[in-house]
Amino acid sequence: MARFFVAKENIGSTTITVTGDEFIHISRVLRMKAGDALTICDGEKSDYECTISSISKTEAVCSIVSCSPNLCEQDFSVTLFQSVPKGEKMDFVIQKSVELGITEIRPFFSARTVAKSHGKTARWNKIALEAAKQCGRGIVPVVYEPVEFSEALAKTSADLKIFAYEEEKEISLKSVLRGAQKPQSIAVFVGPEGGFERTEADAAKNCGFKTVTLGNRILRAETAPITLISNIMYEYLL
Ligand code: SAM
Repeated sequence: MARFFVAKENIGSTTITVTGDEFIHISRVLRMKAGDALTICDGEKSDYECTISSISKTEAVCSIVSCSPNLCEQDFSVTLFQSVPKGEKMDFVIQKSVELGITEIRPFFSARTVAKSHGKTARWNKIALEAAKQCGRGIVPVVYEPVEFSEALAKTSADLKIFAYEEEKEISLKSVLRGAQKPQSIAVFVGPEGGFERTEADAAKNCGFKTVTLGNRILRAETAPITLISNIMYEYLL
């Protein structure tokens, strides 16, 4: 069933008013009509099964049929810190990370980041919204403005801090995930196409990060986050 995200302030006791881009999606893209059924999520893990009561030029008023907890959110958070890769790869990383259950995405620029451009955050958050609608999420993961590496490092306060480092040869992701009691919050760092500098890995270690190897093969900057999040979900969710 078609899924939409509506701010809590638009949700009443018996009706929900849909406006803005989500209204345009309902009325012009999907050409939905009065009587059609849809699911509306408040972005705070509650789903409302509704039917459209009326559609005007600017809003759709929907009658609430039932409300239930969203079933697509895990009981721990995962924050992806991603060094901005070149081109459209970040679009792919965002879309797949949202499907895999990421909680928030914090892009950063490290020493070897090539794409040090700003101005893509609005577009990235649209990709996150579309992915959240498609896969049935109970929240819309936020993609933040890119910051410098040192600021990204300072922002992390997770229970489990993982730094994917291509020069790490001893410590495996599995040993770090298995070695920890199930954490409430996890932060993962992924470098750019050019990788991390040793000084960056050392700085991360000084902030409590565990450097891990993802195996002997070198994964692309857009493959590594998918690998990390998938393994985290395998270990703590599935
Ligand atoms: N320029 C690096 C090289 O050739 O060794 C590769 C960097 S890789 C394309 C981009 C990022 O993905 C790395 O900085 C790291 O965060 C992660 N990554 C890729 N393969 C990895 C591996 N085998 N072990 C740990 N991290 C890896």
